[in-house]
Amino acid sequence: RLYNEVQDLKGNIRVYCRIRPFLPGQSKKQTVIEYIGENGELVVSNPSKQGKDTHRLFKFNKVFSPAATQEEVFLDTQPLIRSVLDGYNVCIFAYGQTGSGKTYTMSGPNLSSKEEWGVNYRALNDLFQISQSRRSSIVYDVGVQMVEIYNEQLFVSFDLHTLGIWSTTQPNGLAVPEASMHSVNSTDDVLELMNIGLMNRAVGATALNERSSRSHSILTVHVRGTDLKTKAVLRGSLHLVDLAGSERVDRSEATGDRLREAQHINKSLSALGDVIFALAQKNAHVPYRNSKLTQVLQSSLGGQAKTLMFVQLNPDVDSYAETVSTLKFAERVS
Ligand code: ADP
Ligand code: MG
Repeated sequence: RLYNEVQDLKGNIRVYCRIRPFLPGQSKKQTVIEYIGENGELVVSNPSKQGKDTHRLFKFNKVFSPAATQEEVFLDTQPLIRSVLDGYNVCIFAYGQTGSGKTYTMSGPNLSSKEEWGVNYRALNDLFQISQSRRSSIVYDVGVQMVEIYNEQLFVSFDLHTLGIWSTTQPNGLAVPEASMHSVNSTDDVLELMNIGLMNRAVGATALNERSSRSHSILTVHVRGTDLKTKAVLRGSLHLVDLAGSERVDRSEATGDRLREAQHINKSLSALGDVIFALAQKNAHVPYRNSKLTQVLQSSLGGQAKTLMFVQLNPDVDSYAETVSTLKFAERVS
């Protein structure tokens, strides 16, 4: 009842498109964005090409213009996130080519600036706040884990046995058994986790930054609520996924490691598309087994689970071909 909005979704899959602004030092400022409608319409065109067939119309649940703030984006995500406390499994993805704003939307550009926080930290903050406000009737335990999938292999992004917030009680229903689960009590705990995670990643920064665009990064929040009166236990989970860059790699140019990475990314992103498409179509068979990503997320995709995909766009004319291919992927799953 509290979060009725969530029930109003067309099925359990929604797609939001977000267009990032041109960046300060970006010299060529010709945009492919022609029109953004109130109801999720988007028209893109290639200004360097004349003639018909150059305008394309797409329709999503919502389109955020380059002017949209992190707060505005979060407001439209909040009902979904809150449903986790009511026992739902929620998956939120950011899809798009490298440089289109996936990490900006999910994490933000800078952890120390609250205003710029992305969906991840705002979500956790919100979950903690709501769980505090319900504490006289329901007690919530919250745990987080963070993993990366690179070349179809799973990596635990940080291991925090040394941190005081480590807890040996592992909530059930772990999608990733190998990953460490960390019990957290506040957003500060999570920020601490993140900072250590980022510090770990900073070892060999160049190589890892490079790699971050080629790996899927998954932040999982498990919530267990115990009703103080009835002792009934309710579980929900939230997966926040910053996907690997969707850009296609030229087969004639990429070799060795690059080609292998590209093939793995390609495979897992199409597997994800196939799974969401099958769910949207309400197909009896959902092909979860085709990639590590969809295997890991299987229990949180489909059934009563709710899915949100952020489709990220770079407005620059040079990205037109990638933008159209991103939009076509999104159109198929929406
Ligand atoms: P991706 O993760 O898709 O590779 P990033 O999130 O790193 O892309 O974004 C690329 C650059 O654009 C970064 O410098 C980021 O801070 C900036 N950026 C992305 N989206 C926005 C936005 N909505 N507002 C301002 N800057 C943005
Ligand atoms: Mg990124």
